Amino acid sequence: MTDFKRDGSHLAYCPPVDKWDDWMELDPEAWPRRVEKHYDLVPTICFNCESACGLLAYVNKETGKVDKFEGNPMHPASRGRLCAKGPATINQIHDPDRVLYPMKRSGARGAGKWARTSWAEVLETFGTRIRKAIQEGRGEEVMYHVGRPGHDFIMDRTLQAWGIDGHNSHTNVCSSSARLGYLLWHYADRPSPDHANARFILLLSAHLESGHYFNPHAQRIIDGKMAGAKLAVMDPRLSNTASMADYWMPTYPGTEAAVLLAMAKVILDENRFDAAFVKNWTNWEELEVDGFRAKGQTFEALTEALKKHYAQFTPQFAEKESGVKADVIVKTAREIAAAGSRFASHLWRGSASGNLGGWQPARALMLLHVLTGSVGTEGGHNLNAWNKFVPKTFKTPPPQKHWNELLYPQEWPLCTHEMSFLLPHFLKEGRGRIEAYFTRVFNPVWTFPDGFSWIEMLRDEEKVGLHAALTPTWSETAWFADYVLPMGFSSERHDLMSQESYAGKWIGFRQPVNRVLRERTGEKFEYTYQANPGEVWEEDEFWINLSWAIDPDGSMGIRQYFESPYRPGEKLTVDEYYGWIFDNSVPGLHETAKKEGLTPLQYMRKYGAFEITRDVYKQNEKPVSAADLAGSTVESNGVVTKAGKSVGVMVEDKAVVGYNTPSRKLELFSKTMADWKWPEFTLPEYYRSHIHRSAQAASMGRLAEDFDPKYTPVVEWPKDSRGDVYTLLPIFRLPNLIHTRSGNAKFLYEISHKNPLWVNPVDAQKLCGVRTGDLMKVHTEIGYFVLHAWVTEGLTPGVVACSHHLGRWRINKDDQVERMSSAWVDLKEVGKGQWKMRQLESVSPYDSPDPETKRVWWSDAGVHQDITFPVHPDPISGMHCWHQMVRVEKAGPNDRYGDIFVDTNLSFAVYQRWKALARPAPGPGGLRRPLWIPRVVRPEEAAFYIKK
Ligand code: SF4
Repeated sequence: MTDFKRDGSHLAYCPPVDKWDDWMELDPEAWPRRVEKHYDLVPTICFNCESACGLLAYVNKETGKVDKFEGNPMHPASRGRLCAKGPATINQIHDPDRVLYPMKRSGARGAGKWARTSWAEVLETFGTRIRKAIQEGRGEEVMYHVGRPGHDFIMDRTLQAWGIDGHNSHTNVCSSSARLGYLLWHYADRPSPDHANARFILLLSAHLESGHYFNPHAQRIIDGKMAGAKLAVMDPRLSNTASMADYWMPTYPGTEAAVLLAMAKVILDENRFDAAFVKNWTNWEELEVDGFRAKGQTFEALTEALKKHYAQFTPQFAEKESGVKADVIVKTAREIAAAGSRFASHLWRGSASGNLGGWQPARALMLLHVLTGSVGTEGGHNLNAWNKFVPKTFKTPPPQKHWNELLYPQEWPLCTHEMSFLLPHFLKEGRGRIEAYFTRVFNPVWTFPDGFSWIEMLRDEEKVGLHAALTPTWSETAWFADYVLPMGFSSERHDLMSQESYAGKWIGFRQPVNRVLRERTGEKFEYTYQANPGEVWEEDEFWINLSWAIDPDGSMGIRQYFESPYRPGEKLTVDEYYGWIFDNSVPGLHETAKKEGLTPLQYMRKYGAFEITRDVYKQNEKPVSAADLAGSTVESNGVVTKAGKSVGVMVEDKAVVGYNTPSRKLELFSKTMADWKWPEFTLPEYYRSHIHRSAQAASMGRLAEDFDPKYTPVVEWPKDSRGDVYTLLPIFRLPNLIHTRSGNAKFLYEISHKNPLWVNPVDAQKLCGVRTGDLMKVHTEIGYFVLHAWVTEGLTPGVVACSHHLGRWRINKDDQVERMSSAWVDLKEVGKGQWKMRQLESVSPYDSPDPETKRVWWSDAGVHQDITFPVHPDPISGMHCWHQMVRVEKAGPNDRYGDIFVDTNLSFAVYQRWKALARPAPGPGGLRRPLWIPRVVRPEEAAFYIKK
């Protein structure tokens, strides 16, 4: 097993730290001559996914340019290793098509005419508009909408300093359902599996190759496998991950919870569960189900009630639902039970984000952890909150007083994150308007469902008054902005990041490489854009300066949070912001830095990351502090309370902190679900997804017995759609691409540049003998798209699949585009809300200052599918349910590769059908949402109550 060592000796092939000031390599281009190249190596953090792996920028001493990026061996999570996207940062920073200066539109919105402007003008324009909105009590009309955060906390602080409820995110098209499933159990909304020490690992994902935190996790999954762990993968696709598994379980999409509950039944029936753990660490005494009330009953009675409740989930039933053989289900269940406390798993997107009720697989998966006692253990399931470190900053603003109904509307009181993907529909319904809108590393026109509704919203100046796209690259969304503001890549900005990568805690520091190097030699910069290419800025300095522009004299109470903690009344610098954090709130950093004669900031600039602690387990067993115990009382359910707030729970006569749930235990029984109008889901359950075969039959007018319209809206096909009905898997990632930002990375696009429709040979036969390369037309509920088929056995029959990482498009042929990754298209609104897109020209080599663009050899950019999907808000989690029921046919004579048609009138109707399934607030006491459930940028408690 490769373990991280602070001196980097675990990776002998990496440059040792003492040589980072002058690292020599031979120039491969000069071979066979021996020509030395000398580098400064500067650590930073990758910005291409949320794993936050450590990069080393190789800065050529002769040219001052970054020549390449490799892994930082001093980073505790990535340990010197990267996926393909880390080194490809070099393409991003040298991209000849990137945005280098702030741009302002010079024609109508969406007309594609731009003129260069200054940062001063940008700050003045937005500062004035936002100040006026806040002063007039319209703070909720200011919205910051983030795609890829890439940092922790600073935006929460900024928005709360402005006193507004204006944080929007992409999370409800990403991970909200999985998060709800987890948080209902233990408040923390993400798993932190200890893969390296596990004996059995179950992935409901392609986690060895893609996904959140996958590179740090993948290393540790392999560590675990090399130490003897077995790996099982549930995925309808034979992904690269599934190909590495001991058990590939190709579940029919949306049936994963049925399989997991069948495993739970095996473990229960065979009495292989950890009774002591369940008894001590779940709220089993609160359970009420099927007429059974656990209160006052024995634990044995409880287990009998559970066995009875899950009796329907026989392995045979699960096989019928999922297609996975019953004997495989039984075998894996027994192996999981045998692994006991060393059972680890991961679920993030996949079944959770694809399906109606996608939060149930996470809830059912956690039941397996609870039954095996593998929560908080070495080799088991730990909580993200135990392993992710978010430091405190100086002078924290108070929570805002307002509640923004455009973010958290009453229909979805249990949504974990903002209902971001419904924003165009909310504005269409007249729920509000936006005065100042910031989209930041966010491209909803392309990455969200129903992109044409986004275009309709963004081009409407009544609905969106002023829009700035803060982005490192051009995007389909930036096209419809008023301002395009260039932001930095990995080596051009400061950020703090920490993730739950393993059973430890670490913090990583992204930094602007050129500025840092030049400041080492005595140069001084007021702002990072002065050292970056063009005038590419970093957000930290932008928000500080914008806050000063909003409140120039400090009279609004905003400016105080952006003043130096060391120089009263003067503007905060990034060195001061991060220096204060490193000095005051990272445990152990001060002492470690001091040993090397460095300040904490110097230490972080030198190494780029710091491990705070490791081997973090069983945080629930920590004793309640003496201060909290003094004057506390113990309630009848064992919860220890003080001043009306719970601080712990009694377990085996000890007061321990437990979990942040109402019972302070793992919530096997969720009273929250009963209180918020979903009493049928108080326990982990399985219910059928919107793409289940019964729903497919209903869409064709054949109502099956097992179809319940109370949970599943019936699909209404557009009148000219044809073909057999399939389930489309549209959300699998390609390991080497990241949504919008990889569009300018030649090294990545030459690996993947096509997203064909995967079709199983059985289905290919049914579809009149379709062969690889044939043109197919895929009808959704609101339109269609046309692409090539790829016939493959790597997919369950009855299901088709298409990766969402391709299909970029551009309206201008040669300007404001990423030419190596996009097709030039003709985009037309042919009737009200009826949109047609046809590809005019695809990818070809082109002249630019970068010789690589002449070497582009591929001629395809893929096909955009997300834009043909309607929104599907899950009635409970609020998550967009990505899987699509589609009709598939061979394309006709008038169809061309890449053709797209969408009717946004239909998409609005689909939205209404799904909204009708929700069970809106108020909940108990007139609440908008449960007080105990976390909320992003949480307002003050009074705002949680609906005003009468
Ligand atoms: S996993 Fe890849 S893309 Fe993500 S941070 Fe690490 S190197 Fe970058």
